[in-house]
Amino acid sequence: MSTDPRLFIDAPLSAGAAIPLAREDAHYLINVMRRGEGDAVRVFNGRDGEWTAQIAHASRKGAGLTVGEQTRPQQSVPDLWLLFAPIRRTKTELIIEKATELGVAVMAPVVTERTQSDRIKVERLQAIIKEAAEQTERLDRPELRDSEKLGALLDNWPEDRALIFCDESGDETDAAWGGARGRGQPMASALASVGDRPAAILIGPEGGFSPAERDRLRRLDCVIPVTLGPRILRAETAAIAALTIWQSTCGDWQ
Ligand code: SAH
Repeated sequence: MSTDPRLFIDAPLSAGAAIPLAREDAHYLINVMRRGEGDAVRVFNGRDGEWTAQIAHASRKGAGLTVGEQTRPQQSVPDLWLLFAPIRRTKTELIIEKATELGVAVMAPVVTERTQSDRIKVERLQAIIKEAAEQTERLDRPELRDSEKLGALLDNWPEDRALIFCDESGDETDAAWGGARGRGQPMASALASVGDRPAAILIGPEGGFSPAERDRLRRLDCVIPVTLGPRILRAETAAIAALTIWQSTCGDWQ
């Protein structure tokens, strides 16, 4: 595999196309990667596959590329969404970086009753997603949706999409972590029934879902409640673990 730097470019790619580089991309290529005129890079835009390109010009004023030939055709990614309650800034950033590496198609912050988060800095999150997509050799950049309240999200849920609800508790209100009754199935075995259906994984905030939210979720036909084992995981750990299990049972790690 080529080790030439790889850039996500939001422009159509075709042989001979001239692409002016955004300031951050020019800075990355010239100052960080120490590349100059004539050097090779790779580019992708999420639609046209991956292409070779050459640095056509580079100066203090900016840089531009000329596109060469296509090296990989566009491939589809597994149809998986990650819905997560945003948490502290650095943890939210960790979730979206790792979810990009782990191959999600869509990520969406979901505001729940117990969500306590720093304000979401969309630009910064988009930059993290772009960098992770470039680094991880994927041919697309996952979509980051606007945050939405859990209630509204469920009101408009697309019925054919399985909603995999990571639920750490049971039904017994006076027992620790809800006791043993009503626990979700272990995730890997629960996914046997999902097959290649479109899916979304839902992870709650640090304080978990409220009893009312949990009740509503558990009553929906599209919801598959799952457990990630007998330990309570931090939200970011739960997200990474759940994505790993989904990829290895329903996704493209099989
Ligand atoms: N309810 C707890 C912990 C929340 S952990 C509290 O009050 O502190 C944050 C989220 O991670 C949960 O909402 C759940 O979606 C997920 N999670 C953590 N551990 C889990 C487990 N063992 N099984 C399933 N989901 C888990």
